[in-house]
Amino acid sequence: MFHLVHHPDYAVAAPPGSPYPFGKHGMVMLALRESGADFVEHVPDSMPRPWLEAVHDPAYVAEVLSLAVPREKERRIGFPVTDVVARRSQLAPGGTWLAARLALTHGFAANTAGGSHHALADSGAGYCVFNDLAIAAHRLLAEGDVRRLLIVDLDVHQGDGTAMLLAGREEAFTFSIHGEKNFPARKASSDLDVALPDRTDDAAYLDTLAAHLPLAIDRSHPDIILYQAGVDSHAEDRLGRLALSDAGLEARDRLVMAAAQTAGIPLASVLGGGYGRDVMAVTHRHVRSILTLADASGARP
Ligand SMILES: [Zn+2]
Repeated sequence: MFHLVHHPDYAVAAPPGSPYPFGKHGMVMLALRESGADFVEHVPDSMPRPWLEAVHDPAYVAEVLSLAVPREKERRIGFPVTDVVARRSQLAPGGTWLAARLALTHGFAANTAGGSHHALADSGAGYCVFNDLAIAAHRLLAEGDVRRLLIVDLDVHQGDGTAMLLAGREEAFTFSIHGEKNFPARKASSDLDVALPDRTDDAAYLDTLAAHLPLAIDRSHPDIILYQAGVDSHAEDRLGRLALSDAGLEARDRLVMAAAQTAGIPLASVLGGGYGRDVMAVTHRHVRSILTLADASGARP
């Protein structure tokens, strides 16, 4: 049995012209329910505005919540910020924070949204409005739930926003493995970055992860790991550029959970990126990732 955070309003009707697959969050939940896996569902609250403003520029928070995001920022985000988009942008950080709190109690929990790692202080970017990882990290630290934490970001795109928002905070360690040639063109500086060449395969990827993850854990001594488990490093991902197989992604997730368990560190996972014309295929990659993490955590899915 494992703990899963989901809100029905994660899955909203995509605003006109949005390339982001908003529906996948609902499909992930549906597929998880149909899988017969044994989990307890938790519904998150919206992240209270002061926690958004603690990480983002309050003027930008106001733009999002009053549906007045300038056209230029919406272009950078990749879709218009409508009322349902603004609502889910406030729910997802609430979900990531709740998953982290559940992980502190139960060892593992997953959020079916989140991983909005490109969002910056004064603007969203790359399909990300608010940076749930940085917001949840800040709140966990500020409220004393943890003293130190590690963000492991294995989405194929660099966690540039998270790195910038948490830069200089010694108690929050950011670790990103990503495609060298992938978005964002100009990379930020995480505490530990590994950039991989196009078409990196399972073996090379897993070697890299196995070599660097223990280093990140040693250097950060975290009380919790927040894991951005994007599946866009898959060979068939539309935006990926890497060449991982289904088995490679599963091995990746097992490796991450094994490292956390060996070190006795709770882990909360968030969904992250995954793109393709076949939304069902992407959905199943996310579902398999959550079930793999649950299984490897010892919480039989
Ligand atoms: Zn991505």
